[in-house]
Amino acid sequence: MLLPVFTLKLRHKISPRMVAIGRYDGTHPCLAAATQAGKVFIHNPHTRSQHFSASRVSQSPLESDVSLLNINQAVSCLTAGVLNPELGYDALLVGTQTNLLAYDVYNNSDLFYREVADGANAIVLGTLGDIPSPLAIIGGNCALQGFDHEGDDLFWTVTGDNVHSLALCDFDSDGKKELLVGSEDFDIRVFKEDEIVAEMTETESKNHAMSIHAYDLNSDGVHELITGWSNGKVDARSDRTGEVIFKDNFSSAVAGVVEGDYRMDGHIQLICCSVDGEIRGYLPGTAEMKGNLMDTSIEQDLIRELSQKKQTLLLELRNYEENTKAELSSPLNETDGQRGVIPANTKLHTALSVSLGNETQAAHAELCISTSNDTIIRAVLIFAEGIFVGESHVVHPSMHNLSNSIRIPITPPKDVPVDLHLKAFVGYRSSTQFHVFELTRQLPRFSMYALTSPDSASEPLSYVNFVIAERAQRVVIWLNQNFLLPEDTNIQNAPFQVCFTSLRNGGRLYIKIRSSGEITVNTDDIDLAGDIIQSMASFFSIEDLQVEADFPVYFEELRKVLVKVDEYHSVHQKLSADMADNSNVIRSLLVRAEDARLMRDMKTMKNRYMELYDLNKDLLNEYKIRCNNHTELLGNLKAVNQAIQRAGRLRVGKPKNQVISACRDAIRSNNINTLFRIMRVGTASS
Ligand code: CA
Ligand code: CA
Repeated sequence: MLLPVFTLKLRHKISPRMVAIGRYDGTHPCLAAATQAGKVFIHNPHTRSQHFSASRVSQSPLESDVSLLNINQAVSCLTAGVLNPELGYDALLVGTQTNLLAYDVYNNSDLFYREVADGANAIVLGTLGDIPSPLAIIGGNCALQGFDHEGDDLFWTVTGDNVHSLALCDFDSDGKKELLVGSEDFDIRVFKEDEIVAEMTETESKNHAMSIHAYDLNSDGVHELITGWSNGKVDARSDRTGEVIFKDNFSSAVAGVVEGDYRMDGHIQLICCSVDGEIRGYLPGTAEMKGNLMDTSIEQDLIRELSQKKQTLLLELRNYEENTKAELSSPLNETDGQRGVIPANTKLHTALSVSLGNETQAAHAELCISTSNDTIIRAVLIFAEGIFVGESHVVHPSMHNLSNSIRIPITPPKDVPVDLHLKAFVGYRSSTQFHVFELTRQLPRFSMYALTSPDSASEPLSYVNFVIAERAQRVVIWLNQNFLLPEDTNIQNAPFQVCFTSLRNGGRLYIKIRSSGEITVNTDDIDLAGDIIQSMASFFSIEDLQVEADFPVYFEELRKVLVKVDEYHSVHQKLSADMADNSNVIRSLLVRAEDARLMRDMKTMKNRYMELYDLNKDLLNEYKIRCNNHTELLGNLKAVNQAIQRAGRLRVGKPKNQVISACRDAIRSNNINTLFRIMRVGTASS
């Protein structure tokens, strides 16, 4: 059994996910972690007597080997590493909802302290793409921002939702790192600098992994996935089989998993920290352990599990044998119910279509599964990401409804292509065993749009307009692959137009192709317009696409949001000024009260302290107002960042990046009209 090589119990709580190890003096690895009340502690077990003089750091009153860094604000992310390669030691980076601090622990000084309007929910340190200097990249309110060691932001872009986690890795094996961004909408987006090169949608999961880490715990030369869980479990899984090769338990949630040579003996330990401040370090298993890191009872569990599986398989085999015997003994018995085995030529057909719904059922996409003969479908199991609660769906008609076909309504919440993995149980009415057909069907990206006949009254005012060098026939192929068109759809050569109705909200979508290759898409849904452009761009391998767009209603809403952002900014400034005034008043009241005490003028002293008490109450109220104001401001800034991201998604390649950076410049210089011009025509210059 693998045991920790060291265990420490620190008398500080650790905030989940905020643990980092760094060599802040270039030599000694020290653990830094955010703790309650806006502090970061640095545990330095290597040098005992360290004295800090400047204001940010103080000695912990609880432990001599712990220093405390005052942030005075809830810490929202933390990391450590090389930000300036010339320094030769690691910087500590601490993010909050409003600021990012890069700190030189060794010299006890700020490297930089920047205001970050979009907050810092997550942070990662390293190099990105072709940008030569290491960056501290933070993710916040739909925005990503990367700072070099001088605090200059060399990287900025927007993303679809609030950022929850970040990682740097060479995703496409071209020798340069991409940025992986996990966000609130369960999407993982891969950024090649500021361009999204891949997107994956995950579904919500019940268990919370607090921290993950790659570490070779069984010394076989391959990293295991180490996961620290909210229930205090730590486990190591094989990357190939997912099998748990080691686990341990903490009495409280795991706050972070890191690695470092914490004993300075030349061996890297896996270091796990719990929110209660317990720290355990593990060394990889030795050769004698032969990868056997857990005690024997777990092996016995495994043997039990395997013999259970063997029993099930034997039972299944016996059933097959019985069936075959029955078939052979009575080949002429054709009465339904006597037969166990279905005809060998039985085929399973699947068809996808769109149903407009009626009084009892909402509009939906529909999957029809049928067999090619008189066999019945007893049940269907569907596995698909993001469509059903819990990723799977079972359909099993009641006995008197059994037939050779089943219709299953499907309503994907998002316009993404989804693989439907099907298992259909086919047999006869009284069969006890069924033949299982397994197959996969892809639900097209825009399956929630029904082809309808166009009428000019319903045509949306909002549109995107662009030119592609593709023949109309290829556009028809794209339509067929991405929409569920009725089988009898016959689209002629350009010019043509198709009209769809959204099954979700009844909104109309027009796609018009002129013989010149000009395409106009009319929809009031800016996200749908972006999805269609991105889908066409990848289908036709378009690298750069400039697009003209107008979304009058959406842009009007955005204009209102920008006015609000201005208001909240000025309220923020006024409140900050008030706060500064009040702290001066507090200082003078305190001095006057103390003067009165020294003069033994108890009445005056009491009055001053009463005034101080009232002022304190006012301050608390003002603080609440400031907090609310800030929350409102964040909400509106998020809407602005989302609008920039949406305007970007209407374009492809260089024009897309130009739109995003030009929008940001327009917002920085408070040039609202330019902003809307960029969103419409894709460029600031006329
Ligand atoms: Ca790469
Ligand atoms: Ca390993």
